[in-house]
Amino acid sequence: MVKNLRKPAIFFDRDGVLNEDDGYVYKPPDFKWIPGATEVIRRLKEKGYLVIVITNQSGVARGFYTEDDVIHLHTWMNKDLYGRHQQQIDAFYYCPHHPKIGNEVYQKECECRKPRPGLVRKALTDFTIDLDSSCLIGDKITDLETAEAIGIKSYKFTTENLLEFMVSKRIL
Ligand SMILES: [Mg+2]
Ligand SMILES: [Zn+2]
Repeated sequence: MVKNLRKPAIFFDRDGVLNEDDGYVYKPPDFKWIPGATEVIRRLKEKGYLVIVITNQSGVARGFYTEDDVIHLHTWMNKDLYGRHQQQIDAFYYCPHHPKIGNEVYQKECECRKPRPGLVRKALTDFTIDLDSSCLIGDKITDLETAEAIGIKSYKFTTENLLEFMVSKRIL
């Protein structure tokens, strides 16, 4: 018998969903978790979900910080999560591009900048995901459009506490 090894995944936008969106955050000391966010990740991991971050980081194209800074912050987030709850985010996917700003490397009409679905598609090649039981949580219309392009459910985070939000949507 072949067991269904597909896992449900929750895709999270980062800025404004997992952390306060103070504008181009890239340094750990400036990073503030949204209330309830680390608890949400802990509970999702305990329930067997994949937790995946998909984030536009045009601050790279704009020259505000580098891809190394982005990767460093994500490594820091996972260290912090592990210290708190012994759980971690499974993967981070980011778009460093911008269609109009940046040097020849970063200025382009890429497929990964949300609302385009490239980052989610990359995750779908890296993990075996059950799309029917997966969803995306974002705070902008472009996040919801990304989900629509893939054909998964999405929810717009509009309140202040992510745990209460996830409970109200019956995801947790
Ligand atoms: Mg956001
Ligand atoms: Zn991109």
